[in-house]
Amino acid sequence: MASPFSTSPKTRPVPPLSRAKAGTPLYVHLPFCAAKCHYCDFFSVPDEDQDVDGMSAAILREAERRAPRSPRTVFFGGGTPSLFTEGQLAHLLDRLDALTGWRASAREVTAECNPESLDEAKARALLRLGVRRVSLGVQSLDDATLARFGRVHTSAQALRAYDAARAAGLDHVNVDMIYAAPGQSPARWESELERVLALEPDHLSAYNLTFEPGTRFHLELQRGSIAGVPEEDELAMLDTTRAACARAGLEPYEISNYAGPGEACEHNVNYWNNGPYVGIGPSAVSKVGHARAGNVRGIASYLARIGADGNAAVWSEELGPVARLGETWWLGLRLARGVEPARARATAGFEGGADRDPALEVVASLERSGHVEREGDRVRLTPAGLPVADAVGRRFLGIGR
Ligand code: SF4
Repeated sequence: MASPFSTSPKTRPVPPLSRAKAGTPLYVHLPFCAAKCHYCDFFSVPDEDQDVDGMSAAILREAERRAPRSPRTVFFGGGTPSLFTEGQLAHLLDRLDALTGWRASAREVTAECNPESLDEAKARALLRLGVRRVSLGVQSLDDATLARFGRVHTSAQALRAYDAARAAGLDHVNVDMIYAAPGQSPARWESELERVLALEPDHLSAYNLTFEPGTRFHLELQRGSIAGVPEEDELAMLDTTRAACARAGLEPYEISNYAGPGEACEHNVNYWNNGPYVGIGPSAVSKVGHARAGNVRGIASYLARIGADGNAAVWSEELGPVARLGETWWLGLRLARGVEPARARATAGFEGGADRDPALEVVASLERSGHVEREGDRVRLTPAGLPVADAVGRRFLGIGR
């Protein structure tokens, strides 16, 4: 998963953030894909005629300046890292290790992979190079839906890729799925889901399809050539997902993420805890201290900026303590364990104490409406709050702006 803060209106060059403390989680964005999926708003481009080695060299140059030493988690995302050849991966990961020492320090190392570029040899190479966890973009087990999504693989290829990861010895496999695809019924989603869970993945990410501005699906939605599923069907699919994952022993530790014991993605949990992180590569976002900055979204512009002075940041911001507190709640309520108000204040650097904490007024209002509840020293979403989690979370974004 890319940073939750993936866009910003500002695009002028800005000074880079200071180097993060040793141990800070590291995200590396490899922006090439076999084709552009119709729903995707991540920064990625088809890999035809792209200079992979040039991109790798630029990423390493940026890492030399900004990557934290000894990161405790590393996430190779994109884009499709598995598109890189074994030689390209070895070059990038070895040099990155020489710069940061990640192989010795990281407790969790994930690479996003797609079925068309993950066979057993590639999976073995990833494992040999230090990757311990693979996040496999299956998205659907229905070939018509995959074609509608613009995916370049079939369901059979997806199953083969999953088997390849297991055969190679990868013990931590996430499967990425999307539900509420155009025309999908709750029954059809349930049957796809059951087939995926029968594979016994260690972790499942199941996101409902959204129509993000700038994507082909958004354009088709505006033209009326595509429609989302009815809201009641989408809610039924969420219920089905939670029930099926519970039967399969996967806990819903976040709104869209389910994990077996000890398999929650530590790297992503840090995002939801509003922790610090460093992102390297085009469009990557970093948060160091209370400041946030993002790199330019473009291949040529990223290469040019890194080539010029090693800095690709084009926006940065530092919110005030109240706004940071609001964001900490917005992100943290996504987690099943919820938010501990005192910890949220500490994370945000809000020094006012409970009696002056504006988030607690929002909590009280949401308790009255039945969207959140208290359990011990934590506040979390109720079953009624879960389906409207985005709207509930956004109530907190208003407190400091
Ligand atoms: S493979 Fe992933 S990153 Fe690439 S276009 Fe598709 S959804 Fe986006």
